[in-house]
Amino acid sequence: MNYRSLVLSAFLLISIGLYPQKKEFEEVLSEYKICNWKDNKQAAVALTFDDWTPGHPAIVVPELQKRDMVATFNIFISTVKDWEPLRKAANLGNEMANHSATHPHLNNDSLYKKEVLEPKEKIEKEVGYPVFTFAYPYGE
Ligand SMILES: [Zn+2]
Repeated sequence: MNYRSLVLSAFLLISIGLYPQKKEFEEVLSEYKICNWKDNKQAAVALTFDDWTPGHPAIVVPELQKRDMVATFNIFISTVKDWEPLRKAANLGNEMANHSATHPHLNNDSLYKKEVLEPKEKIEKEVGYPVFTFAYPYGE
């Protein structure tokens, strides 16, 4: 047995020992259910609010909190003068998503850096977690 065969044999023995057999997998899988929504609910609703208007931190966020609910707020950053209410809403579990810098018609690629990338980085810096969602203004 050469060195390569020895290494391959050792790898196979270790692999067989580390991974459960098919029957063990089936037993483990039988303990879990695959479902579409949390707690096997029949449906889900996603609440989204665009533009971070004054009513969002003043009314929407507290009303959601009273109901133990969260939403996605799509922010266009040029209107945000105070980031503290936004951080507070984010800390309650709401998603702060990117909705551009100035809410333009995004009809050409030259706006990507200024209207998509830079606002994403700004929201991430202010809120302190990654931004995954971009809601394009006017559906463009
Ligand atoms: Zn909008």
